[in-house]
Amino acid sequence: MAGDRKFRVTVKEVVRKGCPAGHKVGDTFEFGRGCPEGLCITAFHAIYPLVTAFWCGAEIPWEKDKNKVHVACPDSNCIVVFEVENLITKDKQIEHSEE
Ligand SMILES: [Zn+2]
Repeated sequence: MAGDRKFRVTVKEVVRKGCPAGHKVGDTFEFGRGCPEGLCITAFHAIYPLVTAFWCGAEIPWEKDKNKVHVACPDSNCIVVFEVENLITKDKQIEHSEE
């Protein structure tokens, strides 16, 4: 349905410790229209443009699963890699949702 959006962000790798949000591998955040509580705001800055792309129906050509994309927090004091997943896609409507 147009306008529906749901995303999952998962911490996949902590390359260098020091994230002020204290993220650990496996931390997961699901969100739709609101900001994900507890997610590093610097990371969210990097994640949000990709969320917008998914919301507009984009598929990520360089990713094996085109409904996922990997992005690192731009905070130079720590390196945390996140996976952003689009849970509402054209072919699978909320397939992954726990709701
Ligand atoms: Zn961070």
